[in-house]
Amino acid sequence: MARIVQKYGGTSVADVERIRTVAERVKKYHDAGDEVVVVVSARSGVTNELIGKARFLNPAPNDREMDMLLAVGEQETIALTAMALHALGIPAVSRTGGQAGIFTDPAHTRARIVRIESGNIETALTDGNVVIVAGFQGVNAEGQITTLGRGGSDLSAIAVASAVRAEICQIFTDVEGVYTADPRVVPEARKIPEISYDEMLELASLGSKVMQARAVEFAKKYGVVFEVRSSFNTNPGTIVKDEVASMEDVVVRGVAVDKNQVKVTVSNISDQPGTASRVFRALAEAEVVVDMIVQNVGRGGRANLTFTVPRDDAERARKAVEPVLDAVGGGEVNVVNDVAKLSVVGVGMRTHSGVASTLFSALADARINIQLISTSEIKISVVIDLAGADEAARAVHNAFGLGAEATVLSD
Ligand code: ASP
Ligand code: MG
Repeated sequence: MARIVQKYGGTSVADVERIRTVAERVKKYHDAGDEVVVVVSARSGVTNELIGKARFLNPAPNDREMDMLLAVGEQETIALTAMALHALGIPAVSRTGGQAGIFTDPAHTRARIVRIESGNIETALTDGNVVIVAGFQGVNAEGQITTLGRGGSDLSAIAVASAVRAEICQIFTDVEGVYTADPRVVPEARKIPEISYDEMLELASLGSKVMQARAVEFAKKYGVVFEVRSSFNTNPGTIVKDEVASMEDVVVRGVAVDKNQVKVTVSNISDQPGTASRVFRALAEAEVVVDMIVQNVGRGGRANLTFTVPRDDAERARKAVEPVLDAVGGGEVNVVNDVAKLSVVGVGMRTHSGVASTLFSALADARINIQLISTSEIKISVVIDLAGADEAARAVHNAFGLGAEATVLSD
């Protein structure tokens, strides 16, 4: 018997049939004697539909009213899930975020959870109920409904798991777990049985988009063990937990490709103290998140500054930088759209050498040119041509032996 939190995303509760399937799964755990807290998202598409309605009536809807509206999506699924469980003879109660004691800061539409008063959930569990909590929402100190930002149900689930000291938080979704690469691109990709929080953060935020990054960060901070698994079968998924020593035996855990970045070059600016600071201050003021950065010094005291930004921010980046061009000695802004960022990720990189050379030779053999390189302790990323990105992923996956059983080093 264990206390578990199960989170079901939008596709897992997309319609009444699927909600019934969720209830049947929850029943199995309840029948086995587990205490189950279920956290649900809105049915897939509902949040977008509500946002669409709001914008139809008002292009800049008020944030408080937006939260009032968006919280409705999850409220529909908690009630329907409770009813589906009742129909199977399982005692269940639904709770809005506020009723579940999820308190947030006042920031409507992007609130942060400040504390969870879980007494209410615990009592209901002790009385034998399945407790169904609305994801994505909470309540601020004034009792106003708040929402946690898109994809926020993951965070709700992890935070509730931490508050009720659940043994595990199971994230049921439409993929079977975290893979060594995107299986649609790399047919040999394998499901990773176990992974550290840091590796998950890199792999999820880079490509596979399995889970909201904030939720993974929260889990890491509070040591919440979670499992990403499919709600369409009973296969075990990927367990995400604190790093253990043996995780370093695998040098590269996975290959991620991000096709959602563009490359921006500010060329022919003066090579002087303060130019980079001017450019990046302008980008920061425009709230553009910059990822990889490279500066090359050219001839005659001129330099080029190259960086990547999310595709959707390309125009905002250009508009932010153009007004400061004069102040940095002229130059021009160029946006290159057809790029992709490929990364290899693994905590084993901390203790093993040769990762960069294996990566670069795999790309060279596949005749793929590297435009930018950046590294961190557990990741090496390159920017390459978009057209060659899938082929590059296959070549790199193969070069690190990720398709076979994991390469375990002997020393
Ligand atoms: N329903 C919200 C969204 O679509 C929260 C979630 O699904 O996690 O962003
Ligand atoms: Mg989601």
